[in-house]
Amino acid sequence: MGLPAFSSARKRKGGNVRETDNISVIKGVGEKTKGLFAKLGVHTVGELIRLFPRGYQLYERPKPIQELKEGEVATVSGVINGAVKTGGNRFRQVTTICLKDESGSIKVLWFRMPFLKNTLRPGERLIVRGKLVRKREGLLMEHPEMFFPAQTYEKKLDTLQPVYPLTAGLTNNQVMKVMSQALEKIELEQEFLPEDMRMKYKLAEYNYAYRGVHFPKDKEQLFYSRKRLVFEEFLLFILTLRRIRQKNEKMKNSFMFQRQPLLEKFVEDLPFELTGAQKRVWGEIERDMNGAHVMARLIQGDVGSGKTILAVLALFYAGLNGSQGALMAPTEVLAKQHYEGISELLEVHGLNLKVELLTGSMRAKEKRETYERIRNGEASLIIGTHALIQEKVEYKNLGLVVTDEQHRFGVKQRETLAAKGREPHILVMSATPIPRTLAIILYGELDISVVDELPKDRLPVKNCVVDTSYRKNSYRFMRQQVEEGRQCYVICPMVEESEAMDAENVTDYAKMLEEEMGDGLRIACLHGKMKQSLKDEIMEAFAKKEIDILVSTTVIEVGINVPNATVMMVENAERFGLAQLHQLRGRVGRGAHQSYCIFMTASKSKETKKRLEILNHSNDGFFIAGEDLKLRGPGDLFGIRQSGLMDFQIADVFQDADVLKLANDAAGEILEKDPELEGSEHAMLREKIERYSEGIVLETTL
Ligand code: ADP
Ligand code: MG
Repeated sequence: MGLPAFSSARKRKGGNVRETDNISVIKGVGEKTKGLFAKLGVHTVGELIRLFPRGYQLYERPKPIQELKEGEVATVSGVINGAVKTGGNRFRQVTTICLKDESGSIKVLWFRMPFLKNTLRPGERLIVRGKLVRKREGLLMEHPEMFFPAQTYEKKLDTLQPVYPLTAGLTNNQVMKVMSQALEKIELEQEFLPEDMRMKYKLAEYNYAYRGVHFPKDKEQLFYSRKRLVFEEFLLFILTLRRIRQKNEKMKNSFMFQRQPLLEKFVEDLPFELTGAQKRVWGEIERDMNGAHVMARLIQGDVGSGKTILAVLALFYAGLNGSQGALMAPTEVLAKQHYEGISELLEVHGLNLKVELLTGSMRAKEKRETYERIRNGEASLIIGTHALIQEKVEYKNLGLVVTDEQHRFGVKQRETLAAKGREPHILVMSATPIPRTLAIILYGELDISVVDELPKDRLPVKNCVVDTSYRKNSYRFMRQQVEEGRQCYVICPMVEESEAMDAENVTDYAKMLEEEMGDGLRIACLHGKMKQSLKDEIMEAFAKKEIDILVSTTVIEVGINVPNATVMMVENAERFGLAQLHQLRGRVGRGAHQSYCIFMTASKSKETKKRLEILNHSNDGFFIAGEDLKLRGPGDLFGIRQSGLMDFQIADVFQDADVLKLANDAAGEILEKDPELEGSEHAMLREKIERYSEGIVLETTL
């Protein structure tokens, strides 16, 4: 392949900005912009260029109106036919025009842009680019990007335009400007991948890749640029992991744990029998904890497979053996949920272990007292958030750490804990199903157990995919469920991937729902722009059944267990990834009552239906993600990331599974030749890994 991508780029002239510089060195970045970028985690120029687009828009030649199809994003050039109208309700103002070309005409509408009435005049030519949706009155274009006068479109024609993650106050255009300034002026670091590796794996050159991923000239450049950056990220990750593993040869188990008849009785007395998978995995955990080496085990199991009880068994086992067990949850809501559940189990089963809750929001005095009980060993089980591993916490005899639904527990944290005593056993629980081959690469030193069986008595969730004409029926259905004492979730349509817009949207929707359903129903809303404490409060109220219907963005936490909730209704289901819908579905069907999932879609396209139908046929998260990718096809290949699993910056474990394997091969080859990375051809790579391992990886892997 003779692509320029593979030759080393010549140095740019005038490059006087470095990756380590603060972004304020870029022209046009003042205090205010700096603050906005900081919200996105961008402080340095290096972080800026690693603020990767979350998708791209392709600006194609306008299409004749007659050829437009539902569901696609298209560009149309036409003349405004008739008056510019405004209407809508008090929650949503709508401006409407009719656009006409030689082939036909189409209705175009904008939300909350009443000022358009003063800009647009009948008879004027306009280019609009937006999504086509089918409503009762026929095909129309909703809230398109507008090019006026029409000639302004020329500049955009045939380009791929990056779409960045944003925050309120920062527009995509601003980010693009700053990014292009930076890439213009920057003296990028030099290629650090060995030449022979780049040739073998067809990897674009460093400088080319960064420019190409932000401002690709075409799809091919984007493909090679992205591939290189994904490979690079995986490679650094894997090499770091492997080096840690080399250093940390398996630690000796210094705990003398013994069989606990009380625990065996506890299992017998449970209101349910453990599933075969749960029994098997518990056997593996017990064997580890009694074995020659300290346990480092990952438990994977789909939502609802019953991982919590395994964590509980492990904690009780440690406790009954006289050492302390800590359970770390990603949010306060989850921590409280676990604390309450565990307290109840201890009481019901008459087990004499003292359990404590420790979270960041506790008052200073409470915290001090809790620290003291942890230090003197009075507390034997400690449930909490990250507060559990802060420096002030000193354990008397920590024997086990369990982390739930998260990967943000790193080597550093483990070292912090070990420094306080002996090296504790570690158990990590995850609901994200990944095939074993990938899990082995990604989780490095962890042994893996899979809970691959759901409790038998579980009623499968009933799914349906419906169009918006069923909305009224759905509301009626939810009312019935509430009257029977159940609760419901409604996930709101995504307008944009900007939190500000989503927040507004959820609030509007909740108001609308209140008007629609009215009397007596307790409706609340939840979104990402809320303070954590308020989110917790609302989730708690929902768990306590003080709220009937919770209208939310997708922020409702993974792992939340409100078995009384039986309806999950998702508006605009077509806009979500299937893996995400699967996670959402996992929030219901957790109790004895029949649960329902309503996927609402405004789209009539066959593909959409087919995609959503996959959810009906499978409960296997990884299969679902894979099928989704196949169906969405190359057009969407550069779209939204599927999983966000493990917080990679550009790579996606699902989408880039192939590159992950390649990077793993490459890592193996390097380490075989040069285990310590001492060779001069690896000097830059080594330096890069050292920097990398101070940052991301320690946060994301064990
Ligand atoms: P997850 O794996 O998603 O964390 P949980 O551990 O929260 O799932 O379990 C979901 C629900 O299933 C809980 O209410 C739990 O009590 C129940 N459960 C767990 N194991 C079994 C079992 N073997 N039989 C019946 N119900 C079970
Ligand atoms: Mg769970």
